[in-house]
Amino acid sequence: MEVYEGKAKRVIPLDDGKVILEFKDDATAFDGKKKARFKGKGWLNAQISAVLFKVLEENGIKTHFIGIAGDNRLIVERLKMYPLEVVVRNVVAGSLKKRLPLEEGTELPEPIVELYYKDDGLGDPMINHYHAKVLGVSEEEVREMERIALKVNEVLRKYFTERGIILVDFKLEFGKNERGEIVLGDEISPDTCRFWDAETKESLDKDVFRFDKGDLISAYEKLYERLTGESPTHR
Ligand code: 5GP
Repeated sequence: MEVYEGKAKRVIPLDDGKVILEFKDDATAFDGKKKARFKGKGWLNAQISAVLFKVLEENGIKTHFIGIAGDNRLIVERLKMYPLEVVVRNVVAGSLKKRLPLEEGTELPEPIVELYYKDDGLGDPMINHYHAKVLGVSEEEVREMERIALKVNEVLRKYFTERGIILVDFKLEFGKNERGEIVLGDEISPDTCRFWDAETKESLDKDVFRFDKGDLISAYEKLYERLTGESPTHR
């Protein structure tokens, strides 16, 4: 079976319906126009994803997570991935500023869910249910992903609030397992979420790299410590 190499991960299929997700130290932003490598990022993202998938599973959300399989590797259930990104937002940041006349940092009265078509060539355009249907994803499937995404938001928002962190927004990807169930896949990490320190509003996520706000690894380590109460052991 073929190994799939993404920008930040390698996907290695096993022959028993499971897959190894290997998190790389590479970082890209702005459709791959900005690139760098940060030693330790793969480890941090794998471990942080594992923590968050466990929290979701404990709260009754089905995810692909099976276990940790080495330093920067997770073992997960094989899914047939939908070509969609589901973004949930609680606070105005990033591309939402181009869509609504609201200032960065404004808390939204209720979460916003957005759909994007995962296609580098088209620059991941925002789409709606009608576009999704043309791409072969039914209205029911989209609604189920949106429902799960909002549940993920509820669980994670509470979890992060208790740790002095604002969950600003995040991106999820879903797939179908062999039993035909829609399952949360991919990763949940500071590469795919915006996290702000509740007191200082400092970014603890990939915006540090996108907008040159400081040292990425220190920010990710700070997040890891807040979540686990432990110092990271990747060095
Ligand atoms: P925005 O639309 O504001 O750029 O992104 C919203 C949220 O989704 C952010 O937390 C961002 O990290 C995440 N996100 C959206 N698209 C992508 C993507 O293609 N790759 C990654 N890693 N994160 C994304």
